[in-house]
Amino acid sequence: MQQFSIDERGYYGEFGGAYIPEILHRCVTDLQEAYLRIMESKRFQEDFDQLLRDYVGRPSPLYLSRQLTERYGAKIYLKREDLNHTGAHKINNTIGQILIARQMGKTRIIAETGAGQHGVATATVCALMQMPCTVYMGKTDVGRQQVNVRKMEMLGATVVPVTSGNMTLKDATNEAIRDWCSHPADTHYIIGSTIGPHPYPDMVARLQSVISKEIKLQLAEKEGRDYPDYLVACVGGGSNAAGTIYEYLENEKVRIVLAEAGGKGIDSGESAATIHLGKAGVLHGCRTLLMQTDDGQITEPYSISAGLDYPGIGPIHANLAMQHRAQVFAINDDEALRAAFELTRHEGIIPALESAHALAALEKVTFSPGDVVVVTLSGRGDKDLETFFKYEEEYR
Ligand SMILES: *Cc1c(COP(=O)(O)O)cnc(C)c1O
Repeated sequence: MQQFSIDERGYYGEFGGAYIPEILHRCVTDLQEAYLRIMESKRFQEDFDQLLRDYVGRPSPLYLSRQLTERYGAKIYLKREDLNHTGAHKINNTIGQILIARQMGKTRIIAETGAGQHGVATATVCALMQMPCTVYMGKTDVGRQQVNVRKMEMLGATVVPVTSGNMTLKDATNEAIRDWCSHPADTHYIIGSTIGPHPYPDMVARLQSVISKEIKLQLAEKEGRDYPDYLVACVGGGSNAAGTIYEYLENEKVRIVLAEAGGKGIDSGESAATIHLGKAGVLHGCRTLLMQTDDGQITEPYSISAGLDYPGIGPIHANLAMQHRAQVFAINDDEALRAAFELTRHEGIIPALESAHALAALEKVTFSPGDVVVVTLSGRGDKDLETFFKYEEEYR
């Protein structure tokens, strides 16, 4: 029946669970017991809906791309998460989690961030709710993403540069977990994707499911049926993809296409194609597919797109891939860049580099005439302009 949803133990098939240190046991079980009750309460739903509407700007439009439709011979719609406040889908999750944290009586928020997008979305809702906010960020990333660091500080957050390991996202996450262990009673940890110990993957997927709830209504209106033939999304940790497919998981008429970051190629040693390259293991609280060496050390991922540069993948997607419910493509840097420049020139929309991976996946699918396809444009490209300027000559 509910083959692809979470079970009562917090697993999707063989993936998921809650692998946590003893000291966090209490606050993770508190969250497991509270999250559904809070999310189903009238008060939460009213607050969440109102903020998504008036603060984030939802519903995000479902836009029929004439150019992509002509090119692929199928009706290609773009789900415009790029138009949200702060420029991506991440705000849907941070709004929801801060409401849950407040309801649970937490007074302090922490988060991890890689490129800074989740850090900015978290600092934003902390300013909105007047809660103190600490964001852990690898020192390497702090150096690379100065604008987002300054933005978080301007919003009132404390950004802590992490100097362990490779000083990137994985190390920032370790440090956030360490902070949580020292302040389990008053602190809520806002995880930025469908990763981490149960209930995070399920909680984040449910908060992002507003994307597929809207797609249903919008397709019913535009197409006279509330489901597409294909859903296409990029996967880093998997939250925009989970939100895109959530309402359609058990509808086998809807084919799911996921785009992960191939980097310079899956065999190049510089890749973040976790589903292609990963083996089962435990990282940051859940059992999932991980990029690792033969003796289980995590290998450093690489992608031109910082948001897809994570050595793991949400357990929900690991299971969808194993069950062949989702088709997964590794999209290389050059393919994503080409797709980004094409959308920019032909539609006047500069997409985030992450989202460009989803656009490039359209090339890999053979559509039938009349197919209805929804591609989630997870974010806008403003944060990637420096990268785009660097490659403009080559791809223009
Ligand atoms: C962070 C980010 C992603 C990747 O995160 P998911 O949890 O896989 O959605 C994708 N697109 C954009 C624009 C992002 O900022």
